[in-house]
Amino acid sequence: MTAAITAAENGMQTVLLEHGERVGKKLLQTGNGKCNYTNMNLTPPCYHSDREDFPMSALKKFGPEDTVEWFRSLGVEPFVKEGGYVYPHSGQAASVLNALRSECGRTGVRVVTACTVKDIRRKKDGGFRVLTDLEMFAADRLILACGSKASPGTGSDGSGFALAEKLGHRIVEPLPALCGLYCAEKEFFRSAAGVRVNASVRLMLENREVEREEGEVQLTSYGLSGIPVFQVSRTASRALHVGRRVEAEVNFLPDFPDAAEYLKKRISARDYGSLEALGNGLLNKSLWNALLRDAGLKPGTDPGKITEKEVEKLAETVTASRFRIIRTAGFDQAQCCTGGVDVRDVDPETMESRLVPGLRFAGEILDVDGICGGYNLQWCWTSGKLAGRV
Ligand SMILES: Cc1cc2nc3c(=O)[nH]c(=O)nc-3n(C[C@H](O)[C@H](O)[C@H](O)COP(=O)(O)OP(=O)(O)OC[C@H]3O[C@@H](n4cnc5c(N)ncnc54)[C@H](O)[C@@H]3O)c2cc1C
Repeated sequence: MTAAITAAENGMQTVLLEHGERVGKKLLQTGNGKCNYTNMNLTPPCYHSDREDFPMSALKKFGPEDTVEWFRSLGVEPFVKEGGYVYPHSGQAASVLNALRSECGRTGVRVVTACTVKDIRRKKDGGFRVLTDLEMFAADRLILACGSKASPGTGSDGSGFALAEKLGHRIVEPLPALCGLYCAEKEFFRSAAGVRVNASVRLMLENREVEREEGEVQLTSYGLSGIPVFQVSRTASRALHVGRRVEAEVNFLPDFPDAAEYLKKRISARDYGSLEALGNGLLNKSLWNALLRDAGLKPGTDPGKITEKEVEKLAETVTASRFRIIRTAGFDQAQCCTGGVDVRDVDPETMESRLVPGLRFAGEILDVDGICGGYNLQWCWTSGKLAGRV
């Protein structure tokens, strides 16, 4: 939509082809229905791509301030939360979609829905024939903005990658990102499922820390979820894909710098009667009991009777539990994809193909993925604006 609006503003006769019943279905799901549409704290590590400098080269041309101003001009006032997260002031993702749809109308974009692009052929004299299940469209320029494979129920079913590949573009294997991680320790997660806890997560590849995040971790029946887990999931996804050993080390008491010392003091300060009661008011009961079991301790044991070594083992379990990651959640549970159209074949200033004159790309179809926090939508606005400036 951003690309189409911009192209129309630049005087192009623009047609937007969408195979869903309506445009922008995924937008409605964003930010838990509130749409975190950009982030004012944008730095290079917020983005991943096989060509590291590609995202920032583009984002310098249209960044978060430009996004906020553009949406303001469409009537969407920003509401900026701590951490720079920007939402529409209305708190409704539908406002962002409505503004874009209305702008499509104002700029004269012809929107054709329930229309699946099946094939794209290059014309000998330049331009394209776009074959759909409705009719054939002829175009001088073409922007592919088909999304990825993430959340296929929204229409983003991976068909864009096939279209790009057929036009000669290389595709970096698309994998799920911003998603939960399945763990091997089934018994632990069966006991602790449903718990939300402030924790720090260290992503380990072959025993070496590669990323660390802190925040509300969700323990589920399959393993780990929640924002800090989403943030490291992309790296886990890529590492698992090439057969590396991936683990997550979780500290369930990140705000206690010396947990062993603290537990010793806690035990001597009061007669808790049982190890289960020792955890009361410190950690969620189900989680605490699962940790006791992992530390080889029984909930009914008197804390006064356990050895110093056992307290240290308990502290280690609470602050450095290692979970073996066996896979990521699937595309249906992923908020975005890592991988996509290889950006080595795309000009970062215009999103134009270096292989096919007149072809451009916008959005998640490109091999650019952002961390959680409004960065993926910012990428869509940026690449859409640049691609539309035809
Ligand atoms: C649950 C969820 C929450 C999210 N929350 C946020 C958030 O708060 N902030 C943020 O920055 N990002 C968020 N994201 C990520 C963000 O929504 C995506 O990165 C973004 O929507 C990608 O936009 P896009 O235009 O590239 O692709 P899409 O939004 O997927 O749009 C592509 C469109 O192309 C259509 N299409 C595909 N193939 C064809 C074809 N062959 N013919 C015709 N039409 C086709 C699809 O139907 C679709 O409508 C979230 C994602 C999910 C799933």
